[in-house]
Amino acid sequence: MIQRTPARIEARDTSTCPEPINAKTDHRDWQQILSQSVTTPEQLLERLGLSPEAWYKGALSGHRLFPIRVPEPYLARIQPGNPDDPLLRQVLPVARESEAHPDFVTDPLQEDGAIQTTGLIRKYTSRALLMVTGQCAINCRYCFRRHFPYGDHKLSQNDRQQVVESLMSSPEINEVILSGGDPLAANDRLLSQWSSLLDSIPHLRRLRIHSRLPVVIPQRVCNNLLDWLSRSRLQKVLVIHVNHPAEIDQRTREALRQLSAAGVTLLNQSVILRGVNDDSATLCELSETLFEAGVMPYYLHAFDPVSGAHHFHVSDDKAIQLVNNMLKTLPGFLVPKLVRELPGQPSKTPLNLGS
Ligand SMILES: *Cc1c(COP(=O)(O)O)cnc(C)c1O
Ligand code: SF4
Repeated sequence: MIQRTPARIEARDTSTCPEPINAKTDHRDWQQILSQSVTTPEQLLERLGLSPEAWYKGALSGHRLFPIRVPEPYLARIQPGNPDDPLLRQVLPVARESEAHPDFVTDPLQEDGAIQTTGLIRKYTSRALLMVTGQCAINCRYCFRRHFPYGDHKLSQNDRQQVVESLMSSPEINEVILSGGDPLAANDRLLSQWSSLLDSIPHLRRLRIHSRLPVVIPQRVCNNLLDWLSRSRLQKVLVIHVNHPAEIDQRTREALRQLSAAGVTLLNQSVILRGVNDDSATLCELSETLFEAGVMPYYLHAFDPVSGAHHFHVSDDKAIQLVNNMLKTLPGFLVPKLVRELPGQPSKTPLNLGS
C-alpha cells in the first residue's frame, strides 16, 4: 500500500518548479540518471501524487507485460496529480493494456524477414538499420518494440565483422541508421567504435541516429557524445522522438542547441496517439516548439496495431483530418509527413490526404 506522507507531498510540490530539479540532476551523469529511473508502479504513482486505489491495479498488470521505466528529467515535466497529463499517458500502464484485441498483433511490422545479418535490418534500398542496443531510456506504452525479445546483449566481434562486410558489399547503401532500442542508451565507447567502422566504409554518406534520449535525459548530450559525432566524416542526422510540446523543456533545448552546433541536422518523428496529441492545436504547437528548438518535423506516424496499445488508436480518417487542419495553420515546412510502415513496401507509405 502506498502512503501519502506529508514529506512526500512536499517533495512533489517542489517538482512543479523545474529549475532546482534540473540543477540537481545536472550534477549526475546520464548513466546515473538512467539507473535512478522510476521502475515500479508504486514509485510512479507516489512520485506523481496519483491515487493507488484508482491506478495501482492497472499499472501493475501492464507493468508485468512491459516494465515501467521513466527517468527523472521526464518525470519532472509531468504535472503531479493529473491522470490526464499527456506525458504521463505515454508511460503509465493502464488496465486496458491487458485486454486482447483481434486486430492488434505482436509484430505488426514483420521485421523478421528483413534481417540482413545479426544486428542489421534492411528494408529500403539506400539505408540500413543497425541495432546497437536493445535498451531504451524510457518505456513508451504504445511502442511496438514492447514485444521484441531484444535483450541487452551486445553484438559479438564476429557479428560486428559481419555487419561491416555486409555494408561493404552493398554499395547502394549510403546511409546507416543507428537504432535499437535506443542507440544512445549504448555507451560512447561502443558508439565511437561503430562510428569509426562506418567512417571507413567509402560509399557511406550519412550517419543517422534515431533516439529519444536527448529529450528524455538531455544530460545524454555530453562531451563524449559530441566528440565522436564531431570526429565522424559522415553527415550527421539525429531524428528525435517527441509527441507533445510539453516534452521539450529548457534543458532539452540546450542539449539540442549543442547537437546543432556540432553539425548535426535535427528532425523529429511523432506517433499520433489518442489522448496525447490527437488534436490539431497540440500538433501545431508541437511543430512550433520543435522549430524554435532547431528541429524540423519529419514524420507523423499513423498508429500501428500493436497488441496492448489499442487504447491509443486514432483512425486514419481522423489522422488525415488533423494533418489537413495543420496545413491550414502552419507553413508547409512545419507540417510533418503522415506515414505508415507497411510490410514489403519500398519506403514508408504516405497516407492520402485527399481521400
Ligand atoms: C523507417 C525505416 C528506415 C528509415 O526510413 P526513412 O523514410 O528514410 O526515414 C530505414 N529502415 C527501416 C527498416 C525502417 O523501418
Ligand atoms: S523504442 Fe522508442 S518509442 Fe519504443 S520504448 Fe524505446 S524509446 Fe520508447
